[in-house]
Amino acid sequence: MSKLSIRAVSKVFGAGTTAVDSVSLDVADGELVCLLGPSGSGKSTLLRLVGGFEQPTSGTIAIDGQDVTRLPPEQRPTGMVFQSHALWSHMNVFNNLAFGLKLRKRPAAEIRDRVEGVLELVGLKGYDRRMTNELSGGQQQRVALARSLILEPKILLLDEPFASLDQHLRERLREEVRDIQLRLKITTLFVTHGQDEALSMADRIVVMQNGRTEQADRPEIIYRDP
Ligand code: ADP
Ligand code: ADP
Repeated sequence: MSKLSIRAVSKVFGAGTTAVDSVSLDVADGELVCLLGPSGSGKSTLLRLVGGFEQPTSGTIAIDGQDVTRLPPEQRPTGMVFQSHALWSHMNVFNNLAFGLKLRKRPAAEIRDRVEGVLELVGLKGYDRRMTNELSGGQQQRVALARSLILEPKILLLDEPFASLDQHLRERLREEVRDIQLRLKITTLFVTHGQDEALSMADRIVVMQNGRTEQADRPEIIYRDP
């Protein structure tokens, strides 16, 4: 049961670039919202603001009614998956996944169970001893997703997670991620510049343009009105 509430959030970089311009957006419990728009429209900045990787110039961000606007990323109940995997290549899959739980001083048996559970969830059962740099691009993105999910975030944030993959794999991963999202019923904000990607995954699409949200509707309605 988690909802995200973004209220009049703006982000101005340096002296003049308004990357996000007074955006208000609610994401309902269990909903997957796609932020769709051209390069430079502010999608990634908005996502980074929700994840705590940027501080807003003004406005507030709340999760389940709790103001998280000033919390650093590690104290937010959010999990972020970046465009390129950003896994630790000198660690095997197990250690990549266990890292955050070890920091939180979870017992070893619990860590083993959760690693096993999350690997099964992303379709990589038995991959725990593999080095991440030996995995394919798609497998690496599955590990990155698993690494976010293992901490049981309330809000999942995905920043063009399939951008580096070929078309076929991208389509497959889309389906897999949507299945996992529906199964966990996890509230999700997904950034993409691909209309087909947004159409195939989203409960709701929010179109961004020049830092503003232009249109927010169900995919079939956006599709009727291109
Ligand atoms: P999108 O994700 O839609 O491509 P971004 O959020 O990355 O858009 O960028 C929105 C605007 O903010 C762009 O004009 C970009 O150049 C600018 N911008 C993003 N990050 C920074 C930064 N760290 N410093 C300065 N300008 C930035
Ligand atoms: P299991 O019953 O083996 O835990 P699940 O499919 O329920 O299987 O979960 C697999 C993994 O996904 C868990 O180990 C957990 O880290 C993660 N997970 C489960 N539920 C949630 C949730 N609501 N939000 C985020 N992550 C979750």
